[in-house]
Amino acid sequence: MKIVDIIPTTVSVPLEGPLRHSNGEHWGRFVRTIVEVVTDEGIVGLGEVGGGGEGAELQFKRLKDYLVGHDPFQLEALRYKICNPTASLYNNRMQYMAAIEFACLDIIGQKLGQPVYNLIGGKLRDKVSFASYLFFRYESEDGVYPEVRTIEQLVEHTRELKKRYGFTTHKLKAGVFPPEYELEAYLALAEEFPDDRFRIDPNACWSVEDSIWFARQIEHVRNDYLEDPTWGLNGMRRVREKTTIPLATNTVVVNFEQLAQNILDPAVDVILLDTTFWGGIRACAKAAAICDTFQLGIAVHSSGELGIQLSTMLHLAAALPNLTFAIDAHYHQLRDDVIEGGKMKYKNGQIEVPDEPGLGVKLDRDRLKEYAEMYEELGSYCYDRDSRRPGWYPLLPNDRWADPDMR
Ligand code: MG
Repeated sequence: MKIVDIIPTTVSVPLEGPLRHSNGEHWGRFVRTIVEVVTDEGIVGLGEVGGGGEGAELQFKRLKDYLVGHDPFQLEALRYKICNPTASLYNNRMQYMAAIEFACLDIIGQKLGQPVYNLIGGKLRDKVSFASYLFFRYESEDGVYPEVRTIEQLVEHTRELKKRYGFTTHKLKAGVFPPEYELEAYLALAEEFPDDRFRIDPNACWSVEDSIWFARQIEHVRNDYLEDPTWGLNGMRRVREKTTIPLATNTVVVNFEQLAQNILDPAVDVILLDTTFWGGIRACAKAAAICDTFQLGIAVHSSGELGIQLSTMLHLAAALPNLTFAIDAHYHQLRDDVIEGGKMKYKNGQIEVPDEPGLGVKLDRDRLKEYAEMYEELGSYCYDRDSRRPGWYPLLPNDRWADPDMR
């Protein structure tokens, strides 16, 4: 079998509301590039990568030069072709590699009549548990979804998500307000839902000292882990020495080199595997096996997925023996999806693993067209800008919250 074409389409899919994080906001929508890898046998595989827009489309067009004629079964050769260690220094292609790998696994699965989980060791669970992903957010432009800013609004929002989706684990995206306020919010959630589990992630924007202070205030809570409180392996190591809470990361251990560093000199307890950051489903499965050997925890990170990437997370999570945590997804924040049947459904905080051959998802052409047009109309947005806090950018920790207008 040979690849004969690679077709990227950038889409913009609306969120319930503009989600706030430590660097800025998601502007009420996710911009994703969907890639279709076409073979000479007529089988088409699907991949997905975050953001990028025209830049992502250009990358896929360039990859066509390397990949037309390549056999999609030859995944290791594919990796060395487009992502070998030294070339990667210059072309930064890891996430594009991941999107192509998703598509190739989708092709292989369809060819063999097997779901992707059977290509990476087989399914250990039929359903995957998800954490709610709680964001402070602005009111949606159409007024349908209210703001989440006060602690009362956050608790109410969490109650509603629990009711709608059945979540029993909650992750709060922090780094938006001063740590003291977010501590109050986190403790209010823990008190309101005493049987649930919790995790908080300020996107590494706190100082080491604030991180230690925060960790000590929440040690009595049923925490899964404290995610990226501060930046860097050394910063995380200093926090880890002073708290009993496991530390997790999706920022400082995102490749095999960093994983090796973290094993030789531990700074993080739980590695959050992202099927795009690591370069594909297989790379994550390999990293999970290394973590299993060294008794590091794992969970699955969300980088703002539509249904294609969500499917990669489901197949991965289904096949990991050492997955003990609910996985993350922004998915419930979306209003729609580009796959047939619309958004996948949650039940009791879980989503069923697709059993159809390949990734088990198909493109809905009407939706793809609609959201490609929306992208054409609205364009990309800056991840690290906040439309309502002009001048907001990561200053030294704490300085930026000194000005009340910046909160
Ligand atoms: Mg994170």
